[in-house]
Amino acid sequence: MSDITVTPCSDCAGVCCDTLAITVNIVDVARIVRALHLPVHEVLARYIDEDPREQPYVFWVRKQPVALALNPPGEKTCGCPFLMKVGDEARCGIYEIRPGTCRVYPFSRQKTRVYHKRTAICHARFKVDPGDETIHRMIDDYQADWDIHAGFCEEWNTDPPRHPSFDKLLDFVAEAIDDGRV
Ligand code: SF4
Ligand code: SF4
Repeated sequence: MSDITVTPCSDCAGVCCDTLAITVNIVDVARIVRALHLPVHEVLARYIDEDPREQPYVFWVRKQPVALALNPPGEKTCGCPFLMKVGDEARCGIYEIRPGTCRVYPFSRQKTRVYHKRTAICHARFKVDPGDETIHRMIDDYQADWDIHAGFCEEWNTDPPRHPSFDKLLDFVAEAIDDGRV
């Protein structure tokens, strides 16, 4: 069909990057803050994730399930601060170190089948080559990073004195990165 292309992102204004909350794991955060020499407290925003399927990957703060998201630009509540607009084009400003979520979006895998997950945000149609191992490797790496993240969530969530505020949570994340634990 004519509207299926291999890389439709190159013709898109970065709609997903501009409109979604870009949730990240602690491995993504470590990669970004080390490469850009940015403080954790400037990079991250608080995102309440009520989805029960995400619960192993959330930090509890004052009885709320908190995920880490990239701090939106300007006054926006969603969207990515690293999206670069050049004329009508949109490009990722940190492409080589972009978060795992960005690497696999908008694909999903069920058992061994990778498919394009149609969403209200992304109307593009991707051609998925079933014999391409690259996307499988990216999804494996993505899952491995989230498994590491889940370990830190468990550590935080089983230590009640740490729970009081999002700022304390960011201290915990920064400390783990500074200590080379991630
Ligand atoms: S994934 Fe979809 S919405 Fe996001 S940049 Fe690519 S085409 Fe655009
Ligand atoms: S890091 Fe790059 S790919 Fe990911 S949301 Fe931001 S601009 Fe888009």
